[in-house]
Amino acid sequence: MNEIKSSLDKILDLVNAENKWRLQETINLIASENVMSPLALKAYLSDFMYRYAEGKPFKRYYQGTKIIDELEVYTAQLIGGVLGTEYVELRPISGTISNAAVFRVLAEPGDKAVIAPVQAGAHVSHTKFGTLGALGIKHIEMPYDPENMNVNIDGAVKLIEEVKPKFAVLGGSVYLFPHPVKEIADAIHSVGGKLVYDSAHVFGLIFAGKWRNPLHHGADAMTASTHKTFPGPQGGLIAFTEKDLYKKVSKTIFPWFLSNHHLHRIPALAITALEMIQYGEEYAGQIIKNAKTLAEALASEGFKVIGEHLGYTQSHQVLVDVRELGGGAKTAKLLEDANIIVNKNLLPWDPPEAVKDPSGLRLGVQEVTRWGMKEDEMKDIARLMAELLIHKKPVEDVRRKVIEFKKNYMTIHYALDGEVTTILDL
Ligand SMILES: *Cc1c(COP(=O)(O)O)cnc(C)c1O
Repeated sequence: MNEIKSSLDKILDLVNAENKWRLQETINLIASENVMSPLALKAYLSDFMYRYAEGKPFKRYYQGTKIIDELEVYTAQLIGGVLGTEYVELRPISGTISNAAVFRVLAEPGDKAVIAPVQAGAHVSHTKFGTLGALGIKHIEMPYDPENMNVNIDGAVKLIEEVKPKFAVLGGSVYLFPHPVKEIADAIHSVGGKLVYDSAHVFGLIFAGKWRNPLHHGADAMTASTHKTFPGPQGGLIAFTEKDLYKKVSKTIFPWFLSNHHLHRIPALAITALEMIQYGEEYAGQIIKNAKTLAEALASEGFKVIGEHLGYTQSHQVLVDVRELGGGAKTAKLLEDANIIVNKNLLPWDPPEAVKDPSGLRLGVQEVTRWGMKEDEMKDIARLMAELLIHKKPVEDVRRKVIEFKKNYMTIHYALDGEVTTILDL
């Protein structure tokens, strides 16, 4: 009995420690994360979390699903209404599963796909090292244009005409500027292929009308994660422009890539979609302003911020070259010790082998923006980072300041239940 009790204490202590550290005491700048509103969180913890609903709404393999059937169809309509399409698939339980389902329907093992270059932000799931490789589809990278920090359009068009791939992939995990959707769509369509736009990172910006909607510029499918700039539950979705591809993917996602689709995501997703319909323009607008302000503030503190000649960023991300400050691995760890959470990242000139100690840091402002931070707070964050990394102040001093600072931002903004505090204490 005592062993059970001490085990239980340990488990609960760890959960409480995580909530306290990451929610109350740290500045989180991981570009792929966010926090849900308490209302969405409440809806997430419903009976749906225990239930199965294999198959499509109203055509399930089990009984007991009539309510999730209605909710799933309703949520797909809500999201489709904003994106401008009636073809939305909500079942992928992650962005990677969304990609897998679309890639597999568009190509057989042995076929070819052309992807954005890794320097322009391609995700591992687009490559031979990830999902594409697992499906046996060959990846060929488009050339990179270092001046514009983007896909080299002329080179990519030529490559597509030569290779005649089954599909092309744009969108990425590390990108500051929008990829050239229209040009690549025209090229891939001219050889009979399809364009997949992976909007995992920027889905919230697209939903809010602050990043160009690839479905309106020629993409045939848009895959997404629902928890990065879109501040919903962890999960995925796919939106299509045409019925035919939608039907093919819908028919295969179950049973090829999942059985159940974690039903409790759906009401939380619907509530977050409503929050984004109500507040998205304001929220996403503030995210983009904050990212630019953070980049400028870091530069004036003495950091080498990437992309100055292009205005630093149009997304939620900022990239910093920290080679002269000890490199990505060392600076990311030091920041973590001071309760500022970031990730080390390859910069365009880094070879893939540099992944363990790359040149850069990737910073994302979507979560701190949801905690109500604006331009002034971006300057505060830049100063705290400079105190630690440039002026070499003791890590304990900076950590103490970060903890004091975060106390003022314990409220979730852009939420339907008003500005609310979210702290779970077991
Ligand atoms: C994060 C990310 C994914 C994977 O999403 P998960 O929901 O974590 O599976 C896919 N593509 C891109 C571009 C991403 O950044």
